[in-house]
Amino acid sequence: MMHRFRASRWSPGNRLFPTVLEVSDRHVTRVKSSLIGRLEESISIRQVSSVTIARGALWSEIVVHSSGGTDPLRSRGHANPDAERLKELIEEYQSNLARIGVADTSGLRACPRCAELVKLAARVCRFCAAEIPIDLTEEADENDETSTARKDWTWD
Ligand SMILES: [Zn+2]
Repeated sequence: MMHRFRASRWSPGNRLFPTVLEVSDRHVTRVKSSLIGRLEESISIRQVSSVTIARGALWSEIVVHSSGGTDPLRSRGHANPDAERLKELIEEYQSNLARIGVADTSGLRACPRCAELVKLAARVCRFCAAEIPIDLTEEADENDETSTARKDWTWD
C-alpha cells in the first residue's frame, strides 16, 4: 500500500507542481514534477536513519535522512499533521522490520496458537504448523461479502 503526502499548493515552490512524498512498505520516494519532467528520488525504508520535521507557523519541512550515503530527501510545505503522520508511518515500518522482518503488517494476523504473524489468507501457520480456521478471524468475516449477503437472505 502506498501512502502519499502532498505539499500544499499554497506553500512556496509548490504552486504548479507540489512535491509529493510517497511511503510504501519498501521505499520513501520524493516526487517532484516540473515543466520538463518528473524527478524521483528514493530511500529504502531499511536505510532511513531518521526523519526530522521542522515545524513552521503554517507548514512543516520534512527531511528524511539516509544511512546509505545518499542525500536526504527534503520537502517543504506539508501540513503539520501530515508531517507527523509520515514520520510515525516510517517509524512504525522500521520497528516492524526490526521486530518481525515485515514492514507493513496490515495484511497479517496473529496465529491463534503461537501468536506469530501470518498472512490473512494462510490456512496453515508457517511457524507452528497449526491449521488456522478461517472463520476464527474478524478480518475474514469483514472481507467476506458473500457470507453477509447470505445472512440477509432469509424467509422470515
Ligand atoms: Zn502458529
